[in-house]
Amino acid sequence: MLEIILLASANPHKIEELRQILEPFGIELKSTHDFPGGVEVVEDQPDLEGNALKKARYWNQLTGLPALADDTGLEVDALNGAPGVYSARYAGEHVTYAENVAKLLRELDEENNRKARFRTVIAFVDGANEHLFEGSCEGTIIHVPKGEKGFGYDPVFVPNGYKKTFAELSSEEKNSISHRGRALKNFLELLKN
Ligand code: IMP
Repeated sequence: MLEIILLASANPHKIEELRQILEPFGIELKSTHDFPGGVEVVEDQPDLEGNALKKARYWNQLTGLPALADDTGLEVDALNGAPGVYSARYAGEHVTYAENVAKLLRELDEENNRKARFRTVIAFVDGANEHLFEGSCEGTIIHVPKGEKGFGYDPVFVPNGYKKTFAELSSEEKNSISHRGRALKNFLELLKN
């Protein structure tokens, strides 16, 4: 059983989410904050899989620890899957979450089909061992942001079967149905086996 895993991320929301999920398995999570010598990996690959693998390989080589990296995209049907792999910089480079959300709502202004999904790809790299895991969560994009929790597009995403946005759900509720929670469950199956 693994005891320490490095999460190739400095995003405090993700670190906390993953820590909560991995803790019951006795796995200690380190993050890029613990290795100040590392640089930020440029996410320039054409798909989520490519970006996740690129990050996990870099941090595994740098630290020697088994490394986990994720890349997530919001895929909106009426926008042909956009913003997808460009979700972080939808409204431009170095923008806020609120600016990305505002652009999404503008693009969907007149649109009745508000179906969307979050899709997460997790790459796990431990030397020559490389694995990819996926998880998704279907939902709809509402017209006005609601809720203070979470991050990113959470205030406008209502998961199917719920009346609240991700930003109104507790972190436990979100983790239990979220794209990242599901991808991580698939990863945990590998650990158990
Ligand atoms: P990342 O590159 O995996 O960090 O994700 C790209 C972008 O997708 C982030 O900047 C967020 O805007 C958005 N995102 C990722 N995960 C979530 C989530 O769980 N909820 C809402 N937005 C998210």
